[in-house]
Amino acid sequence: MTGSGSALEAFEIAVLAAVLIFGSYFLTWRMLMGVRWRRRPTLASDPIPDHWREIVSRRVPVAGRLTDAEREKLLRLVQVFLREKIIEGCDGLDVTEEMKVMIAAQACVLLLHLDAGCYPGLRTVLVYPGTYRPRSPTWFKYDLGSTEARLGESWRHGVVILSWDSVASQAVDSLDGRNVTLHEFAHQLDQQDGVADGTPALQSPSAVRHWAAIIARHYDDLVSAAASGRDTVLDYYGATNKAEFFAVATETFFEQPIQLRRQQPELYDALREFYRQDPAQRLTVPPTPPTPPTPPTAPTPPVTMSP
Ligand SMILES: [Zn+2]
Repeated sequence: MTGSGSALEAFEIAVLAAVLIFGSYFLTWRMLMGVRWRRRPTLASDPIPDHWREIVSRRVPVAGRLTDAEREKLLRLVQVFLREKIIEGCDGLDVTEEMKVMIAAQACVLLLHLDAGCYPGLRTVLVYPGTYRPRSPTWFKYDLGSTEARLGESWRHGVVILSWDSVASQAVDSLDGRNVTLHEFAHQLDQQDGVADGTPALQSPSAVRHWAAIIARHYDDLVSAAASGRDTVLDYYGATNKAEFFAVATETFFEQPIQLRRQQPELYDALREFYRQDPAQRLTVPPTPPTPPTPPTAPTPPVTMSP
């Protein structure tokens, strides 16, 4: 073995060690960030206003497919959401209680079976009347450079922005695969571990690796579908990057679950395991009607003895 050969080997070993150390550090850091946010929200015990139930049943049809227990939990999460977050109108929009309940209910559908808190990093939801021109907050000022109209945005530092026209119209059709509220709040879940990369906080490094491999495969497939014009249940916008892929896949998972399960079963299963919900099953099994109250039992007639 020559001197230069052993120097090369030592260099390769050093590079490999550095990659392993950095990789382990990165995975551990992500896991700790995930653990930091992984806590159940404290649900309120005060009564849920009756008109919230009416708003959710009339204007959030995706909630109509939930079981009674899930719908009750959803309303409890709405209470937490509205207690903790500020929902503020922009450009003169007056945000009514009905609008707040609609936004919170759709956002909380994602949380129904997660131990992810109630978007603990989120402080404010800004609502514009329609599409808006983004004002990207920077360290120094608001950047007004971009002129592209948007339907919504999600920021890691605690802000979600929504266009009310899109929130309202996309809530009504809960089977078209388009829902800006689900989309932006999926970004919030993705951002909870500090990195917007299509991989939300997961339980273990092996779960992160497994998830990332599935997302990468299906993301590459969507990129190639978008390039060739091949039809797919996922919107081509998901081919922008992996963070957008996760947000678009979440919209499709909740709004076109049967099509997603048929076309991309591996992706569907990954999302089902993450959200701990099976929306395709909800659409194939009719919801059980609310249990009617038990009628009072008639008094037992006295037993008469024949002489
Ligand atoms: Zn997005």
